[in-house]
Amino acid sequence: MNDLLEVRALNKRYPVGPGRRALHAVEAASFTIRRGESLGLVGESGSGKSTLARILARLIDATDGSIVFAGEELSTLPAARVARTPWRARIQMVLQDPGDSLNPRCTAFQAIAEPMLRLGTATGPSSRAGGSVAERVTELARQVGLPEALLGRFPHQLSGGQKARVGIARALAPGPELLILDEPTSALDVSVQATILHLLDRLRKELGISYLFVSHDLNVVRLMCERILVMYLGRIAEIGPTEAVLDAPLHPYTQALVAAIPGRRRANMPHLELPGEPMSPIDPDPNTCRFHGRCPKAQALCVRSMPLLREHAPGHQAACHVS
Ligand code: SF4
Repeated sequence: MNDLLEVRALNKRYPVGPGRRALHAVEAASFTIRRGESLGLVGESGSGKSTLARILARLIDATDGSIVFAGEELSTLPAARVARTPWRARIQMVLQDPGDSLNPRCTAFQAIAEPMLRLGTATGPSSRAGGSVAERVTELARQVGLPEALLGRFPHQLSGGQKARVGIARALAPGPELLILDEPTSALDVSVQATILHLLDRLRKELGISYLFVSHDLNVVRLMCERILVMYLGRIAEIGPTEAVLDAPLHPYTQALVAAIPGRRRANMPHLELPGEPMSPIDPDPNTCRFHGRCPKAQALCVRSMPLLREHAPGHQAACHVS
């Protein structure tokens, strides 16, 4: 089996106010990530992509559903306990702003060494380099292109790109098999973004790691990912090979996203000029398509029947009655 991660029927609901009302942040998410694959996760704010990423990083628990990682069920292990198990080393996250994620009182060396010391992976089986912590930190700095001379510096003495390299080295330090990247370059200057993206692409290929690449930027996803998963209001609207999804999108929401990229060159998630208001995520009607009310192709059926993911071509699925 080539799948590293298999997610089945994953739900995340947050209680809202008195009574039994709930915000449905993620609903019925099912997909896989293969070993060594980069899967892009896109959607507007409120689509549930950050919640899904945090569940898979085991920072928060799902309400229900299954997460099988390397053949083992992970969802039964509470997120609060993952930090004290070997699982923490196997799934790592690179946060959006490297400045925020680094301790201002720790040098680059300490920041990279800390997860290895905490998780005991410096010389353990997860360590790809073996040897001492110092040797491993030096090796990681070399891998991410951080000059060794900068390892003694504090975050405020590093540029944005250098801090990003420290953040990546820190995430790689325990030897993860899955890296969850949450908008990893959005806080960087445009001039630095391409360098960091190429670094991430090279590292994935060299180390054979899988990526879940969360991004607002469809062009970045096209560059970095073999497949794309599009979310809308907590549900998967479409998933498939990157070129198929971006060049021939099936779901009306994906079609709107792609059509709104002028000349296919615009960097950020386009501002959608869709009619209507997004549906409320609080106790949404389980029988109505989440995109109904904004969808230009809506039919009467869309109000009384939730569309499920259907395969239209090998590996290319969309959740829409008319696509
Ligand atoms: Fe639009 Fe209906 Fe398709 Fe939903 S199921 S995306 S409302 S056409």
